[in-house]
Amino acid sequence: AAARVLTGGVRLPPMPTIRDLVKLYKLQAIKHMSQNFIMDERLTDKIVKSAGRIDPQDTVLEVGPGPGGITRSILRRTPGRLVLVEKDVRFMPTLELLKECARPLHTQVDIYQGDILRFDMEKHIPMSEYRLHLIGNLPFAISTRLLINWLKDLSLRRGGFRRPDTAMTLTFQKEVAVRICAPLGHEQRCRLSIMSQIWTTPFMKFVIPGKAFVPKPEVDVGVVKLIPLKQPKTTLPFELVERVVRHIFNMRQKYCRRGYSTLFPPEDREDVTDTLFELADVDPTVRPFELSVEECLRLATVYSDFKDKHPEVARYDYRARKLPIDEYLD
Ligand code: SAM
Repeated sequence: AAARVLTGGVRLPPMPTIRDLVKLYKLQAIKHMSQNFIMDERLTDKIVKSAGRIDPQDTVLEVGPGPGGITRSILRRTPGRLVLVEKDVRFMPTLELLKECARPLHTQVDIYQGDILRFDMEKHIPMSEYRLHLIGNLPFAISTRLLINWLKDLSLRRGGFRRPDTAMTLTFQKEVAVRICAPLGHEQRCRLSIMSQIWTTPFMKFVIPGKAFVPKPEVDVGVVKLIPLKQPKTTLPFELVERVVRHIFNMRQKYCRRGYSTLFPPEDREDVTDTLFELADVDPTVRPFELSVEECLRLATVYSDFKDKHPEVARYDYRARKLPIDEYLD
């Protein structure tokens, strides 16, 4: 089957359709790899369009290209280089075929088989005067972890974020997408909203109904574009901010002072909390979802100063255990 007429970019050389490739190579989706494919090229074009302008020298990194639907839409936009990171070895022949067919386009295609969570951006993508775009229909199983890893990289200006303008255009389960973007006062506002909005401006671009995927997931999917802030809202270390925001949101139905107070050992918890809220000029009786990013950061700053004077506080662990990443969404 020949490629269809293409929109929003150059015409690719003739190649089998994604649907045919999936059939030809018997690429049954594997559940633990969170595989849900998009066959509709209008949708894959729309996802790539959400990434904005892609210049001819830019590099695009696609996470989990699978059978290559989004990959084709990216190729039609002819970036200088396209880096594909796919964990499932079964997709290598289809991606190689795509690379072969795309040869006349002057996009350098590099395929890496492996886990994006272990992919060394600094090794494989040299610092350049041209932009890097991160795009992916992410596997649900790793999407939150990947975003948190990348926000940390952004805070440290490392990995894919050595340039300050690397935007991310990524899919998430719709509920997660809503939380990432949730503004002040939104009932879904959580620590993922705060962490995302300290270093980026997230935009919910559009929602893809579950039925558009093969196989169909239980949920709908949100496409989110996260644009790094020119001026991040803090220079505090990522882990410190993370710790404070996590404590505040651990008790999301209570006054915000309640969760924050658990940063401190019980003996003088109440007094310390009162003093720090006063220093930070934050109302201790608002609920966590009513706190602005700036207020959270003021609470993180006074905590940081207090901890410097009382190092034992840094070692205090209310729950005496680390929260798994899934609880990011609590
Ligand atoms: N991009 C394709 C599409 O939109 O039709 C496939 C998207 S599917 C939701 C997620 C893809 O990510 C699958 O191809 C899966 O094999 C791959 N994947 C899963 N875990 C991965 C990981 N840790 N690193 C890289 N790729 C991964």
